[in-house]
Amino acid sequence: MNLNTSILQYIDDVKSGSFTVEEFISATIDRINKIDGNVHAYLSLNDSAINDAKLIDKKIISNEKVGKCYGFPISIKDNICITGTKTTCASKILENFVAPYTATVVNRLNNEDAVITGKTNLDEFAMGLTTEFSAYGATKNPWNIDYVPGGSSGGSAASVAANECLASLGSDTGGSVRNPASFCSVVGLKPTYGLISRYGLISYANSIEQIGPMTKTVKDNAFLLNIIAGQDSNDDTTIDNKNPDYLNEIEKGIEGKKIGIIKEMTTADGLSQEVSTATKESIQDFEGLGASCEEVSLPTIPYTVAAYYTITSTEAGSNLARYDNIRYGYEMESEGYEYNSYISKSRTKFGPEVTRRIILGGFVPSAGHAGKYFLKALKVKSKLISEINTAFEKYDYLIAPTAPVQPFRFGEKIDDPVTLMLLDYNTVTANLTGKPAISVPYSVINGLPIGMQIIANSLEEKSLFQAAYALETKTTIPEVPL
Ligand code: GLN
Repeated sequence: MNLNTSILQYIDDVKSGSFTVEEFISATIDRINKIDGNVHAYLSLNDSAINDAKLIDKKIISNEKVGKCYGFPISIKDNICITGTKTTCASKILENFVAPYTATVVNRLNNEDAVITGKTNLDEFAMGLTTEFSAYGATKNPWNIDYVPGGSSGGSAASVAANECLASLGSDTGGSVRNPASFCSVVGLKPTYGLISRYGLISYANSIEQIGPMTKTVKDNAFLLNIIAGQDSNDDTTIDNKNPDYLNEIEKGIEGKKIGIIKEMTTADGLSQEVSTATKESIQDFEGLGASCEEVSLPTIPYTVAAYYTITSTEAGSNLARYDNIRYGYEMESEGYEYNSYISKSRTKFGPEVTRRIILGGFVPSAGHAGKYFLKALKVKSKLISEINTAFEKYDYLIAPTAPVQPFRFGEKIDDPVTLMLLDYNTVTANLTGKPAISVPYSVINGLPIGMQIIANSLEEKSLFQAAYALETKTTIPEVPL
């Protein structure tokens, strides 16, 4: 059975009786058991996956109504809650936390008969870019296991790339869906802020983050967005977007569309030669597809990484204050402690990167410093929004490589937090402005993937998918070697 298939192909095959849901899910679990010791995409598996598959087969056989997903296997980042299952955020502080409720996105998948394979690895609390900050060990890149898979949704991206499921849900605060999508050669979407419910996503920086689908193909991504997008009374930040069909006109093409090539992201110092060359080739592809491309400058971009870390650390400091070792799973012996020392001691369970963010998050918004840091960061955000809105008066899409570099070796950058942060340079703009952005696998050079990023105006996902699909038709990506 070929596990390297798209969701849409899988659904056709199940409908035509080529295999049962149970057969496909069993084969997927066998694959996980065989290779995940090497890849470490998963933190936990869903014990009832086979049972869930059997129930869907039963519905198919007895001609009952079957949900749109027909049992395709999907993994979920381990910062998204599912009732009765561990949700660790790859942190020791949530080692024993069992979620008491299910995220809206997972409910929507279950309602449409998707089968959840398990929970995937991430940088602790989604803070990082390599999964090296997971408290449970890093995920490996299926293209070369000596290299990082990107992050923070590295487990999600690797699970899709290594055929350990057909799709995954990640979360993207500053690039965490798109970056690992680029590093592992899968499609990753960060939707418009408010398009997908965050109910049940453990917050890192809730004013800018979104859950996003990660898939093998652009069409699958649109299919999945159809299932999970839409207003939710449990998340007041969700928008009523009248649920357009993201898939039905996806082959429309981009003839006559105007594309702005973001100058600051394509001429930055940190851009590698390989990524720069791939970007130039992709511009030719876009022109070949009938679009016109020209450079556009958003002069605030050089300040965005600093603003992003100021804003996200502030929100993280507040969001993570709730982990006091009283309510969320981890239990420390209380004998010999008074209240404050007990809380302080239990919070040493956070790893180094999360601790760094919490300390920063206490400092930058504090009374004596807010004007210098937090309020300035908010001004950068407002200015960036106005610049990008002006750009969208003229252009249908903005493009840039998703990441300035290809995947790198483990340990290469972990001791240098600022260098790591600068790798978010091309992705944070979409988060700070709330715009939708997608990473499309573009090429594989020296055995390592490169993804191209397309950004569209708010709620223009339908058009964004058309551009992404058009670009995808121009690419040939080899099979993952694992
Ligand atoms: N690397 C960024 C950070 O550490 C992005 C993380 C994310 O999108 N969750 O904040």
